[in-house]
Amino acid sequence: MIIVMLGAPGAGKGTQAAAISEKYGLPHISTGDIFRSNIKNGTELGKKAKSYMDQGKLVPDELTVQLLLDRVAKEDCKEGYILDGFPRTIPQAEVLTQALAKDGQKVDFALNVDVPDENIVRRMSGRRSCPKCGASYHIEFIPPKKEGICDVCGTALIQREDDKPETVKNRLSVYHEQTQPLIAYYEKAGVLHTVDGTKDKDDVFADIASILG
Ligand code: ADP
Ligand code: ADP
Ligand code: ZN
Repeated sequence: MIIVMLGAPGAGKGTQAAAISEKYGLPHISTGDIFRSNIKNGTELGKKAKSYMDQGKLVPDELTVQLLLDRVAKEDCKEGYILDGFPRTIPQAEVLTQALAKDGQKVDFALNVDVPDENIVRRMSGRRSCPKCGASYHIEFIPPKKEGICDVCGTALIQREDDKPETVKNRLSVYHEQTQPLIAYYEKAGVLHTVDGTKDKDDVFADIASILG
């Protein structure tokens, strides 16, 4: 089962992908998390990706596509996986479609988590992220059990550099220009399902679980 999460930055893709991963036992692959761990470890890739991410721009395909293809070729992806943050452009989606077709595979579900722009800034400004395991919390809507500490791994939570309101504005316009066209792309492929992402986290997940079966 290959699942692609679609939706604006802050729509809840990561939150839902983590819940799907837990219920269905599939790896949760977030290209944003992969870039952030490269930045933290000071790799060449991290240095290159950081300048784009800090401005709210997309990291160029040359740095993104092969990284993702290598990741999904790993053993733990044999039974399927959940992509969170990839594809983000039509060319990325086309590369993925072609790479899967070579192995007789395809994206089975594209889950579009729909949240209007008005709600996004509030979601992003309250987001707190775990720098170790990537878990995402919200100071108001989804607080951790212990303030400032990740429920999953006990690490101190941080506010992402690119969640500042000015950067969020750029990310939203990049989303509308470059990523939103993927909704039509996957609709045409017959695998698109849209869920109302403004509901509570558990209600959104219930809708997703009924789609996945
Ligand atoms: P969000 O959780 O807000 O959707 P992500 O963690 O997925 O954000 O991504 C953070 C940043 O990493 C993006 O703004 C972009 O700069 C970069 N990035 C992540 N995935 C991709 C991708 N598939 N293509 C290009 N850039 C990406
Ligand atoms: P994305 O991966 O799409 O960027 P996240 O999953 O990181 O989004 O969620 C963005 C922010 O919104 C986080 O602070 C998260 O805790 C919060 N959030 C996620 N789902 C919901 C929801 N259904 N209702 C309210 N807040 C949510
Ligand atoms: Zn954690």
